[in-house]
Formats: sequence, C-alpha cells, structure tokens
Amino acid sequence: MAIICERCQNEVSGEDLHYHNNQQLCEDCYMEVLQRPKTCDVAATQMAKKPRRAAGQTGTEGLLEIQKRIYEYLKENEKATRRQVMEDLDISELELDKQVAILRHCELVKGRKEGNQVYLVPFDY
Ligand SMILES: [Zn+2]
Repeated sequence: MAIICERCQNEVSGEDLHYHNNQQLCEDCYMEVLQRPKTCDVAATQMAKKPRRAAGQTGTEGLLEIQKRIYEYLKENEKATRRQVMEDLDISELELDKQVAILRHCELVKGRKEGNQVYLVPFDY
C-alpha cells in the first residue's frame, strides 16, 4: 500500500519515510520541517502568494515556463499521476517535485488521493 506524505500528499517510498510529530513525512518535507520548525504551511503559502498579489499577478502570471506547462497540463487533463506528468512533459521527478511544491504554495495545484492512486489536480478541481 502506498504511503502518503501528510504534508505534500505525495507518495513516499519506504526508505524516504520519516516520522515527525506523529506525521508521516517524505524526505523533502521532513528536511523542511526540521529546518523551519516554526513556519507553518499557511505562512509559507502567504509568503509565496504575496509577491504575486503585490505585482497584480493572478493565475499563471509570473510563473516559470515549466510551472505554466505543468499547470496547463493538469487543467487540460483535470488530473494526472506524477508519472504521467513526468512522461508527457518530459521532466525529471526531482524537477516535478520542485515545481509542484511551488505550485502548491501558490494554490494552483494540489494532490488528491483516489483509491490507491495519488493524482495531481488543479487547485480548484
Ligand atoms: Zn512531503
């Protein structure tokens, strides 16, 4: 059975799983939590959104090309597994994770679990 990181909702393989404050976390989130113990997700989201708002940016404005491509891809397909996105957009897992983390902070993309499968979907899906 797949293990889901309680912070980013991504699938975690056994060796990357960490426990922190009774939460199951992936390697990346665990590192983030350890580095910034007092920063909650809401603050991170607001920090990520503020410059975009201040610049009058909405939707995909101000995003990198790769971030736009991921977002547009998910809009078009409504939902996709991380593997589908990686294959169709020809990007590495590392790159996808990095960009999805940013898109999540900007509230453009989120993870959704259906059955045993985890999908990336547009935030307003
Ligand atoms: Zn995570």
